[in-house]
Amino acid sequence: MTRILILMSNTGGGHRASAQALQAAFRMRYGDAFTVDIIDLWAEHTPWPINRLPKSYKFLANDTPRLYKLVFEMGEKPEVIAPILDAVARFAERDISRAIHHYEPDLIISVHPLMQDVPLRVLRRMGRHVPVITVVTDLGTFHPTWFHRGVTLCFVPTASGYREALRRGLSQRQLRQHGLPIRPEFGVPSPPRADVRRALGLVSHLPNVLLIGGGEGMGPVAKIARAVAGELAAVGEPRGQLSVVCGRNEKLRAKLLEMPWPVPTAVHGYVDNMWDLMAASDCIITKAGPGTIAESMARGLPMVLSGYLMGQEEGNVSYVLENGVGAYSDDPHRIAAVVGRWFGAERETLDLLARRARAIGTADAAFRIADDIAALVRAEAGMALEAAGL
Ligand code: UDP
Repeated sequence: MTRILILMSNTGGGHRASAQALQAAFRMRYGDAFTVDIIDLWAEHTPWPINRLPKSYKFLANDTPRLYKLVFEMGEKPEVIAPILDAVARFAERDISRAIHHYEPDLIISVHPLMQDVPLRVLRRMGRHVPVITVVTDLGTFHPTWFHRGVTLCFVPTASGYREALRRGLSQRQLRQHGLPIRPEFGVPSPPRADVRRALGLVSHLPNVLLIGGGEGMGPVAKIARAVAGELAAVGEPRGQLSVVCGRNEKLRAKLLEMPWPVPTAVHGYVDNMWDLMAASDCIITKAGPGTIAESMARGLPMVLSGYLMGQEEGNVSYVLENGVGAYSDDPHRIAAVVGRWFGAERETLDLLARRARAIGTADAAFRIADDIAALVRAEAGMALEAAGL
């Protein structure tokens, strides 16, 4: 049995979702041959104050976006980030090596840009040879820390990720491109939309707009919801309905639940069946989160991107626009107008974008990554036997 340890961070929802996707893919493909544990390395296995840093992500990214961009860009400079990561590795060495002793991984997968350098430094100091593999979970903008030359393999989701990895010094031998790993349920064909809507308690005959602000419910979700509901109610009978996912943002959820709505509107907290909500929907409005974009593509869901995290998510907007699978606006009324057209005169455009999204989507990425890793494990086992003369 091969023990895999996946390192992720609970910041947002995307890293966790990709980690779960890989875990599920190994289980479904290889059963007991692999055990896969997922840990939040920063929050659970580093000492204070480092373990508090993930919590500041939400505040920085949502409330002080320019400061977040500054921190993001400072971290792109090797002369800034290298000494910081070295200091973190020294400071957290005892806790991280304890985690490694506890899980005894045969292989480590990082789905976070800040989780290859430090573990590799700690492993080196421990004198341990554990292959570290990176699975990049961004689509269009790639922080340099994703691309550590010391990894055994690096999986990139897109051609631009591949180019960037080469530019940062990784070799073609280290690189694979399969798409961003999303949970297997997104690849399971779904029943007709009307049936899914009925099963979810939605109005079966009305087109549905899914509105989401990432795992943390970020951005002007309430304003967009009001504008879209107003647009869909504008003439006579409602032309559509709205499903809003507030993620972990409880305040937002409470606020939306108290508001009156001119069209049928379902308000959710953190949902565990995003694939069903997407299957029930005709389009999605979302910030430019890579996980949600990849999931929407797999489900053939045209997107209106309503914003992006400065620094980190700009490239995701270009990715969606260049692939012709959605639109961008950060103005709630313009967003509402796009949805109004898609549900009215431009229904054919919506259908075209849906077909394109489905064609480009890579619902099987997690399985293909798991297969490559399994092949690597087999090859290494073969080499070990050969070296032992067996
Ligand atoms: N997500 C979810 N339930 C929720 C809200 C979000 O499962 O209620 C998932 C969503 O399906 C996606 C991830 O959280 O997989 C969000 O990732 P993304 O990269 O879009 O944005 P992030 O939250 O990481 O900034």
